[in-house]
Amino acid sequence: MLHEVGDGVWVRQSEWVWSNAIVVRGDGGLVLVDPGIDGSELNQLADDVARLGLPVVAGFSTHPHWDHLLWHPRFGDVPRYATLGCADTAGEARERAQAMAAESGSGIPLELIGLLTPLPADGGPVPGEVIEHEAHAIGHAAVLLADRGVLIAGDMLSDVLIPLLDARRPGQVSAYERALDRLGEAARYADVLVPGHGAVAEGPEVAARLAADHAYIDALRRGEEPVDARLDQDWLSGPHQANLEQARQSSG
Ligand SMILES: [Zn+2]
Repeated sequence: MLHEVGDGVWVRQSEWVWSNAIVVRGDGGLVLVDPGIDGSELNQLADDVARLGLPVVAGFSTHPHWDHLLWHPRFGDVPRYATLGCADTAGEARERAQAMAAESGSGIPLELIGLLTPLPADGGPVPGEVIEHEAHAIGHAAVLLADRGVLIAGDMLSDVLIPLLDARRPGQVSAYERALDRLGEAARYADVLVPGHGAVAEGPEVAARLAADHAYIDALRRGEEPVDARLDQDWLSGPHQANLEQARQSSG
């Protein structure tokens, strides 16, 4: 079910890692941001979107990880945008993304995974401001809808996921610090924050999310063990160890 979190911004959450599919009303119609996950959920999302009575004019992927590269034939054959870095990486990693999707979800239309086009310089049909940075994944982008007070953050600022450094690239602690600074700037115009996974944050909770990610990264920077409630989830101990490893190996 779609839940309206701002003017013309709706969220549907999947059971799979609390993934958020986001529907944004733009000038020409609807833009679907990171729709997911299972085929049945994508199908329900298509029903929900049809009830809004506006055409889907585009897709947008926040970053090139498989769970953010999905699509369904019922959304239509429309351009699916991303930053240049994300679109290139998604193209190169398509087979791997398809394999991971087949392994992790059911009924996902595999042939439609990762077919992205670089966003035109004027943003095309994607409303708001695209904020690109290098934390978590190549070409990761947030979308700030300042006129509606909504920040769509991709895989940052989650209440369930710790910051996840890109294991394949060095210098991620610094990249994360820069990204958080930019998102902090953007959050001045937002009182609603939609993360890629987890609960939508509102009001003072937005600043609390920023503070939690900052605290985690600051601890990595100092070579200390972060104190972070999200680490109570056992399944994050592997990614957390990988983060510690990267922070130790590179100067940041
Ligand atoms: Zn994700």
